[in-house]
Amino acid sequence: MIGSTRYRTHTCVGAADAAGERVRVAGWVHRRRDHGGVTFIDVRDRSGVLQLVFHPDAADAIEAAKSLHPEDVITAEGELVPRDAATVNDKLPTGAVELRVDRLEVLTHAAPMPFSVEDEGAEANEELRLTYRYVELRRESRLRALELRGTVVRAIRGVLDDEGFLDVETPMLTRSTPEGARDFLVPARLQRGAWYALPQSPQLFKQLLMVGGLERYYQIVKCFRDEDLRADRQPEFTQVDIEASFVEQDDIIALVEKVLVAAFAAGGVTLEAPFARMTWADAMRRYGSDRPDLRFGLEIQDWSQAAAASGLGVFEGVVAAGGVVRGIVVPGAGGGMSRKDLDGLVAEAQEIGAKGLVWAVPGEGGALRSSVKADFLAGLSDAFGAATGDLIAVVADQEPAAQNVLGVLRGRLAERHGLVPEGAWEPLWVVDFPLVEWNPGEKRWDSLHHPFTSPRADDLGLMESDPGAVTAVAYDIVMNGLELGGGSIRINDPEVQQRALAMIGMDADEAEARFGFLLRALELGAPPHGGLALGLDRMVMLLAGAASIRDVIAFPKTATGGDPLTGAPAEVDAVQLRDLGISVTPPPSPPAPKG
Ligand code: ASP
Repeated sequence: MIGSTRYRTHTCVGAADAAGERVRVAGWVHRRRDHGGVTFIDVRDRSGVLQLVFHPDAADAIEAAKSLHPEDVITAEGELVPRDAATVNDKLPTGAVELRVDRLEVLTHAAPMPFSVEDEGAEANEELRLTYRYVELRRESRLRALELRGTVVRAIRGVLDDEGFLDVETPMLTRSTPEGARDFLVPARLQRGAWYALPQSPQLFKQLLMVGGLERYYQIVKCFRDEDLRADRQPEFTQVDIEASFVEQDDIIALVEKVLVAAFAAGGVTLEAPFARMTWADAMRRYGSDRPDLRFGLEIQDWSQAAAASGLGVFEGVVAAGGVVRGIVVPGAGGGMSRKDLDGLVAEAQEIGAKGLVWAVPGEGGALRSSVKADFLAGLSDAFGAATGDLIAVVADQEPAAQNVLGVLRGRLAERHGLVPEGAWEPLWVVDFPLVEWNPGEKRWDSLHHPFTSPRADDLGLMESDPGAVTAVAYDIVMNGLELGGGSIRINDPEVQQRALAMIGMDADEAEARFGFLLRALELGAPPHGGLALGLDRMVMLLAGAASIRDVIAFPKTATGGDPLTGAPAEVDAVQLRDLGISVTPPPSPPAPKG
């Protein structure tokens, strides 16, 4: 271990094996207790905690120990001895020993802490924790999350290095890259009025590396997307970015399975390859989501045909209008739900976007408790295979809306009713995505992945005549209902690339202006190529059992994209703005209070 013996001969946990030896350790004062003339200090370094004991016979040391405050930085030396049997702590790796200190030196005094390091239960608010993130990082859970991240990264690099992938850096100051989000822009001082964009991903550069003959590329790389934030989003996040030449979909899938098996093993989770695969169409139909969580069943079932003759006006009307009546069965969930709970479920479905929700709970002897007269639901329980006490939730709407509501409810209800098995890991490849989806607001087709994704060879003829029917050679990897990554085989023919850009409404001039450099490269000998990118933060979040990717990022941003530690984003000097030729319009002032 690197370190000077001036400060330490062992780490705190490393000292556990040195009983009988003289030992020096260094770290932070974690906790102090005084007991009948004897002072105990827990000292903490990255490895963990070691108990120091100061007996009255070491007068100098005990005096120094008495004046210590939490988080003072110290070095302590003495003999490492076994603890009395009665005071052994089995829960700690150092619980059977203690350091009898005869020499103590305070290296740095710490001012009173903004919140306790030792007591992780005493949650300070996030703003405060992020302002003093370096104090929070001292907490065991944070340190372990970053250690895990490092271990996972090492495992990923191990596989990719072994497979002949080269780690190549790509520019951070570049042009807009089309991943569908807003860009972060950087003004170019030397070319006033021109802007760099921070990359949303290295997509185009990694393709250019393939044209450049690199054949196998990877990079663990920051990407920047100016989006509204959620628990698992940050304005800057990290991708494991991969691209290879002379490959087909199955080659990338097999490689990524190797990467994930190693990464998850590093996090203590065994995954069996090959992973399950499902087409996008099946995922949408059975689970109402393009990233289905397969840790539980609750498949969406169709009751449209029976509903059309049920006598219930809403059902009949929806089916007559080309819609569907579909539902899910939540085993055992209905029995314990009160009328209020069930009505709450209706409100929840509406909040997700349903017009309404019909619920039913089969009772003993064919009785049915339900939100509409049971006669309208004759045969529903049998058709759905529901048993006494199950909850049946039914939604009637146009297909995409109904599927979406049921897809969201499925996950929430499984979680709420304890149907998600503890410790289950269900990786899934979703394949055969459509190339484009209709954007009704903008009245145009949008890429589902990005515009460089290859259509299936058989579908090339449909690109102009029936865009919605074109299948992409694209694949997403999903884990427990979270998208871990996605990729595709790319277009390597400039003419097909032009047509793909035209499909999403880009005429030849615009295509040339924005992506002329790519089109040129494709004209100059582009090998068949494809790849994928994995979200590293999410992967580590899952492995750490963390609730948010912020927990596995050393210096994350808040939900409004701020960094309370440095105060970024911040105003800059007028001189800087002048040099850049930028003038800032002040934000609109908030409306004056009424009255
Ligand atoms: N560039 C894509 C993304 O960031 C991944 C890929 O297609 O390789 O999602």
